[in-house]
Amino acid sequence: MPIQSENPATGKVVKTFDAHTDAEVDVAIAKSVVAYQELRTWSFEKRAKHMRKAAKIMRDEAEALGKIMTFEMGKTLKSAIAEVKKSALGADYYADTAAEHMADEIVETKASKSYRAYQPIGPVLAVMPWNYPVWQVVRFAAPALMAGNTGLLKHASNVPQCAHYIEDIFKRAGFPDGAFQSLLISGSKVERVLRDARVRAATLTGSEPAGASVASICGQEIKPTVLELGGSDAFIVMPSADIEKAVKVGTTARTQNNGQSCIAAKRFIIHADIYEDFRAKLIAHFEALTIGDPMKDDTDIGPLVNQVAREEIAGQVRSAVKDGATLIMGGEPLNGPGYFFTPGILENISKDSNAYYEEIFGPVAALYKVDTIEEAITLANDSPFGLGSAIWTQDEDEQALAIRDLEAGATFVNAMTSSDPKLPFGGIKRSGYGRELAAEGIRAFCNVKTVSIA
Ligand code: NAP
Repeated sequence: MPIQSENPATGKVVKTFDAHTDAEVDVAIAKSVVAYQELRTWSFEKRAKHMRKAAKIMRDEAEALGKIMTFEMGKTLKSAIAEVKKSALGADYYADTAAEHMADEIVETKASKSYRAYQPIGPVLAVMPWNYPVWQVVRFAAPALMAGNTGLLKHASNVPQCAHYIEDIFKRAGFPDGAFQSLLISGSKVERVLRDARVRAATLTGSEPAGASVASICGQEIKPTVLELGGSDAFIVMPSADIEKAVKVGTTARTQNNGQSCIAAKRFIIHADIYEDFRAKLIAHFEALTIGDPMKDDTDIGPLVNQVAREEIAGQVRSAVKDGATLIMGGEPLNGPGYFFTPGILENISKDSNAYYEEIFGPVAALYKVDTIEEAITLANDSPFGLGSAIWTQDEDEQALAIRDLEAGATFVNAMTSSDPKLPFGGIKRSGYGRELAAEGIRAFCNVKTVSIA
């Protein structure tokens, strides 16, 4: 993919960038190693001081950075600003908690002293997606730098200015030169970086093919990986739920970020007793959404990221309908400049249709009707993915069943799936493995050293 900024609201390419050469990448890796040798010796207090400075820069410049995000990938400006502020919270969270998460853990043995020590491992490559172009990066960078590792970012090719801005924030925050660098390279150049012995681990957030490629190369190189891949999250609503609230939150959960979120509610599994009511209300909520200029305050949904993505989603909708599904509303490209697409709702998707199993990475909800909680959970689990999940019910037995039986990295009750720095985040099945955020996120790329003193 060319490395360039294309405004999805207009379809115009505004700036193109030269990719880094192999020689430039080699220099960046060498700098990363030097920075690691320094950062690993810094105290947690010193790292935290600089991480808090990075958080402050993010807060102070949320609007400036937000505008670049909106301009490069089309999310609404208000959501972009909120994302930068959330990233600042994530940075502060690790500034506050890294020492505690990485503290030695004494274990009583026959030795005079033995313990677990969490130690950094070196430069880590992060391959990141465009959909949350700042939060995805910061939730890797903050724990990495607080642990004493260094970061090499291969960001998505359509958000180079976001990548540059984030690199600059950590530089201005006073981390050692080279501690966090952006590599302007295409996906095809990732293998060369992964095979470099100086790079010790990799994390990827993105699609299954990209994840499988990075994991298989790292497998050959015996390097640890964390994979955060796609999802097709279930959003179950049972009769005892607050239907108004479930519809309102469900609309946000499906359409946030213009429908391009890994943890979006994608499959709405609704009990038959409330199906018609829920369906009618969901249509009304979708119809009330304002589609338009993402820079405007009253816009709910901006454009999809690019022409290819829009064609792919339109194609998925068409093929679902060809297979017998009903398109109740929307689900179509809008005429005119930019990659706008109307929020849509599908129902009657058959088990034989690809649409039953695929992730739809755009604002299209799939509705399913079920008669029991058991049927709802079986349907929810009948997916290759296992990222997030949500259940809406006041019945404690149903809540307990869902928490026990839903195959997902997270189950939210009477709420939509979301990420929080204090809670681990990640999936199972084809949604990936490993966890970001919380203690798990900072320990993911640590050497858990056994220390035993006779
Ligand atoms: P993508 O095409 O896989 O891109 C993600 C990143 O991987 C980009 O930096 C991309 O670079 C790079 N890449 C692509 N192919 C590669 C390869 N063969 N080897 C190495 N790197 C490669 O993903 P996307 O379609 O932009 O993003 C949407 C997907 O990400 C969805 O499935 C979504 O659910 C998932 N996602 C998951 C999470 C989570 O936390 N689980 C969060 C957000 C998104 P180029 O841009 O240069 O191609």
